[in-house]
Amino acid sequence: MTAEQTTAVLEAEGLTKHFPVRGAGREVLRRGAAVHAVDDVALSLHRGRVTALVGESGSGKSTVARLLAQLQPRTAGAVRLHGREVTVRGGRKFRAYCRQVQLIFQDPFASLNPVHTVRYHLTRALRVHGHAGRNARDLEDALADLLGRVRLTPAEQYLAKYPHELSGGQRQRVAIARALAAEPEVLLADEPVSMLDVSIRLGVLNLLRDLKEQFSLAVLYITHDIASARYFADDTMVMYAGRMVEGGDSETVTQSPAHPYTRLLIASAPDPERIASAVGTAELAEDDLGEPPSLVTPPEGCRFNPRCPHVMERCRTDVPPRFEVNERQWAACWLYDGSESGTATPTTPASEAGDA
Ligand code: ADP
Ligand code: MG
Repeated sequence: MTAEQTTAVLEAEGLTKHFPVRGAGREVLRRGAAVHAVDDVALSLHRGRVTALVGESGSGKSTVARLLAQLQPRTAGAVRLHGREVTVRGGRKFRAYCRQVQLIFQDPFASLNPVHTVRYHLTRALRVHGHAGRNARDLEDALADLLGRVRLTPAEQYLAKYPHELSGGQRQRVAIARALAAEPEVLLADEPVSMLDVSIRLGVLNLLRDLKEQFSLAVLYITHDIASARYFADDTMVMYAGRMVEGGDSETVTQSPAHPYTRLLIASAPDPERIASAVGTAELAEDDLGEPPSLVTPPEGCRFNPRCPHVMERCRTDVPPRFEVNERQWAACWLYDGSESGTATPTTPASEAGDA
């Protein structure tokens, strides 16, 4: 990492989101019951680096993205851009924040308005963010430039098109171009390729990687596919039931996972070989992973403890902090508590985790 990359552009600390729940579910609800969607999450995004946030469906990934984009108020915690906290939603500082931190959604069809053309979407974004230039000529240049950045060329071929006239990959490229119109520093990409055909996923990920390089963007890449994290991300963080359980450089986390959950996640990916090849095609084998816990009444202590093959007594009562596993990796797991009777060596070798 260069010095430039070591300073965080966007940081979150103690990020927490509880959604109040009312009415009759299957669970007997206490008064003030809440979905503990995100609890005490810390992360930092750096210039020119992709950080993957990996987890099963329902683990809180999209909520983290919405909290970072300030689309939803947080229950607790801090979000800082270049060290400055934005506390009030609305106002000039908030608008500047929203320009610098852009979100790309999973479904480009839903995020583009079907009654408007590509020209309309991009022109509007350029105007909103003050990058449309001073005259019609400037605007045409800016539009061509944006489409060029996402490799939709020649621009004239795309500007008049409506979303339904584009392929899924082209739609996602338009959504990316719209985000770039803000000239952001941070791109939060929430499962940006999971709705696309397998054959074009790689193209869109490669585009995002090129954009990251070209504009020194800090990218958060959200995915349920840990294989694609290894392929695409510099750093990988793993989330389970609303909490971060492991993080570090992608190679280390995916090849030598430390947290028992990450190991299970990798072992249950249908074909371990594909981790080495490219971007995965399959969903997780849910049966191997078992059921994630209720987020209304999450387990005490480590949330993974009911499913953990290494569960110890304290795991059922105490939330594990982050322990450094080595200089490239940390895990929120009591197995790595060096203060107790020497550093515990986990009993499952990484090779069991589908690490060929
Ligand atoms: P992921 O993106 O990892 O699939 P989400 O962040 O979408 O997970 O959801 C995390 C948890 O929060 C889920 O249990 C989901 O049902 C719940 N949740 C998300 N948004 C809301 C909301 N607006 N109101 C209530 N619960 C929500
Ligand atoms: Mg999601």
